[in-house]
Amino acid sequence: MRLKNVPGSREVIAESHFVIHNPEENKGKWAGVFGNDAPLHIEIGMGKGRFLMDMAKLHPEVNYVGIEKYSSVLLRAIQKMEEEELPNVRFIRMDAEEITNVFGRGEVERIYLNFSDPWPKDRHAKRRLPSRQFLARYDEILKKDGTIEFKTDNRLLFDFALEELEPAGWRADVVTFDLHGDEKLVQGNVMTEYEERFSSMGNPICKYIIRR
Ligand code: SAM
Repeated sequence: MRLKNVPGSREVIAESHFVIHNPEENKGKWAGVFGNDAPLHIEIGMGKGRFLMDMAKLHPEVNYVGIEKYSSVLLRAIQKMEEEELPNVRFIRMDAEEITNVFGRGEVERIYLNFSDPWPKDRHAKRRLPSRQFLARYDEILKKDGTIEFKTDNRLLFDFALEELEPAGWRADVVTFDLHGDEKLVQGNVMTEYEERFSSMGNPICKYIIRR
């Protein structure tokens, strides 16, 4: 999702108190940002933030950090937070490649990857958020027994993501190729913007939950 450059978005982000501006300074100290030591869950590539904010409303006992690369997209999430401020949500504008500079070893309990960009060319495989290169970064910041939850309607990306697990030392607790068709797994499912759009077109939604 790359919205057209929205004039003024960088300025709005710079002034927003929902955004953590020097996230590296909080490495290992995220409890201080929220003023409590609740579990930390992050979404990488959160887009306009609907999933993260709906999760935060359902789980006030969890702290959520949404990471988004593009200012024009993050702006939409900030605008939503201005309508309904949630104390357990913060945003970071950054490329997830930098994630190990921002979270300490074992600091994160859960990572959500929702409808990650597919980067279809082979030579770009390492940019895919469920790639082994990214799994190695997640390995550093995730707690022991921490989990990654990944959803997509892109079957090629999902197959790639499954193939990456074993060589990178991860195992799947849950794998489905049709989340919405599985009565049990879909219970409590919180939809993302992309999930709403693609499932309404009839696309099956794939999901895994993995741990080391
Ligand atoms: N998760 C949202 C959803 O399911 O509706 C948005 C999905 S959209 C296809 C993917 C989002 O991930 C885009 O907003 C994009 O800018 C962001 N993104 C892609 N690569 C990223 C990276 N390396 N670091 C941070 N954000 C990234």
